[in-house]
Order: sequence, then structure tokens, then C-alpha cells
Amino acid sequence: MPSLGGRPEHCLSCGYPLEGLPAPGACPECGLEFYGGLTMLQIAGVAKRGPGPAWRKPVWVVLFIGTFLWIQSAALLWMMGVFWISLLLFVSLVAGLTAMGVTARQGSVGSEYFAITCAGFGRIPVGGKARITEFVRWGEGTPAVRIERVGKYWAKIRLVRKVPDAKPEVLLDAGFRCPAEDLQVVEQLIVRLISGEGLEDRDSIPGYEKSVLMASDVRYHQGA
Ligand SMILES: [Zn+2]
Repeated sequence: MPSLGGRPEHCLSCGYPLEGLPAPGACPECGLEFYGGLTMLQIAGVAKRGPGPAWRKPVWVVLFIGTFLWIQSAALLWMMGVFWISLLLFVSLVAGLTAMGVTARQGSVGSEYFAITCAGFGRIPVGGKARITEFVRWGEGTPAVRIERVGKYWAKIRLVRKVPDAKPEVLLDAGFRCPAEDLQVVEQLIVRLISGEGLEDRDSIPGYEKSVLMASDVRYHQGA
């Protein structure tokens, strides 16, 4: 379920321990801003699998053309008595295809937490070492957030950055767990984080007091 969080224990970008540093501040290691108070929205989700590294496509094309040429030339090379060229080509093709198969699962994404702040959002894989794999800054332009209901407890989120004269850039395309009636609240919280307004005035969001986010809020105030 989505929850609110305070200042992260470790930098969301590089993992540097932030304990003892006054908030708001910037990470001494990488300069990423962090904030005090309830300034982080955490949602658990599963990101859509990306297209994979850019080099895979040209490698597939080369392997495909190589296979085609090998089929065309194998008999001819054999007849010419240079069958070792044919054999060498065959071994290279098999090695190439095996390597592509072995690396195919790289880039697949499992469950992760998205930690959303005024600076951008971090992606923390669930399970294993809680190591940040990526921090995406909001950067130029104001990213648009679109949340769509999928089921009673499941929704889709898309964060898209539009910069004039450029193709819109999808920053996040993921499914996440959230009660359907709280989706509006989550969307409003994200809008406030992206705009830099912060979550100070979160009580003014309609439905906030009754939402699941209130649970983490109450706990925070009791602990503070
Ligand atoms: Zn850092």
C-alpha cells in the first residue's frame, strides 16, 4: 500500500548514509537533495519491462544475416575445399546465439519500491540488499502523472516528461498496489511533489483523512 515517509536513511541516489545530517540538505557524496518531515511517497509496484539495452537489436540483425549467408554458402565452401571457413562461421553463429540467450533475462525488473520526492524518484528493488538502482530527477519541464484503476487494489501509473520540441519521455510505467478509492489522493500527492510544493498541506486533498496514507501519517506524528 502507498505510504508516506520522512527523510530517507540513505541517499536515494548513491546510498550514502544521511544519518545525523540536518534536513533539508544535500547528499555530501552526490549532491541529491533530501528533505525533513513527511516528504516522501512510497509505493510498491512492478515496472513494465524496458526494451533492453540498445546493442541487442543490431546484434540480432548481424546474427540473422550471418545465418542466412551461412546457409547460402555452406555447400559452396565445402565444395571449394575450404570447409573450415564454413565450420568457423557455424561455431561463431552458435556462440553468438547462445550468448544472446544467456543475457536475455538481464534488464527484467521485479517488484520494487518507488520513493517519490520533490527532486525525483528512486527505485528500490524489493528483497535482497536495499540498494538504489536508479534515481530519476524530474529535471526540465513538468512531468505529467496519469493513474488508471485496474482493479480493486491494483492500478497503473505513468510518469511522462514533455519537453518542447522533443519526444515525450516515459519516466515510469508501472503497476502498483493501492485501494481504488485512494487513487485520487495518491495522484494529488505526486502532483504536489513534482511541482515542488511538497506535502505540508496534504490535509487539503479531498479524501486524504480517510485514505490508507493516513496510517503512515499518524505513526509519523506519534514517533516525532
Ligand atoms: Zn547521494
